[in-house]
Amino acid sequence: MQKRCGACAFCREEHPNSFVTAGNCANPTLTGVNVDGALAEYVAADVGGTVLLPDGISYEDAAPTVCAGYTTWAGIRRADARPGARVAVVGLGGIGHFAIQFAKAVGYHVIAVKHELARELGADDVVTDGAALKEIGGADVLLHTSSSHATAIDAMTGLRPWGKLVLMGLAEDEMILPALPLTTNSYQVIGSAHNGMEYLAEALDIVARGQVKPMVELFPLERVNDAYRKAAAGEARFKAVVTL
Ligand SMILES: [Zn+2]
Repeated sequence: MQKRCGACAFCREEHPNSFVTAGNCANPTLTGVNVDGALAEYVAADVGGTVLLPDGISYEDAAPTVCAGYTTWAGIRRADARPGARVAVVGLGGIGHFAIQFAKAVGYHVIAVKHELARELGADDVVTDGAALKEIGGADVLLHTSSSHATAIDAMTGLRPWGKLVLMGLAEDEMILPALPLTTNSYQVIGSAHNGMEYLAEALDIVARGQVKPMVELFPLERVNDAYRKAAAGEARFKAVVTL
């Protein structure tokens, strides 16, 4: 999301420049969609769609942070959990591997659903499903980072009263939620995208301080097609980064 049109009804409400703008502005300028630049060596961009990289972050680490890391951190901030809350992460891909690390970096008790590798990324507990999550005390927040809604809905068995389910993946299919526990537990279901550039600045800062380490697979520019194929097939662990 590079630039809003500045003239439509949405823009007149003065929302922050974010992914939400891309979906609601009548005429947004989108890098790599309606203007060039996504894989270019240099790009002329509107200053409102850029952020300065902090000292101490490599381009290779910054690349996945400006999308997946930003998504994850904005979602955690949107969940607005109390300090020390129990946060469960469903899915361990490009967003999930960030979610475990970001949640841990800010002091939450982190529980991963299903993936053992999550321990290496700092998860306090790993459980197999929602029943197991409930057994160890449940979670106040469920970060749904995968495209498998079934796993997330099953994990809701372990969502504590007043809990929040935060959706941050880009799945296009429908999600069917169990209505009764939603009401009886006063759950909140929250969608989250890139919600404002300040969250991007915060995410980059946390990575620059070494508290979160993106796991990237590097591809030289000549192998850009391999990077694309691997990412499309879901085989990149966890983010394919193209270098010059
Ligand atoms: Zn607009």
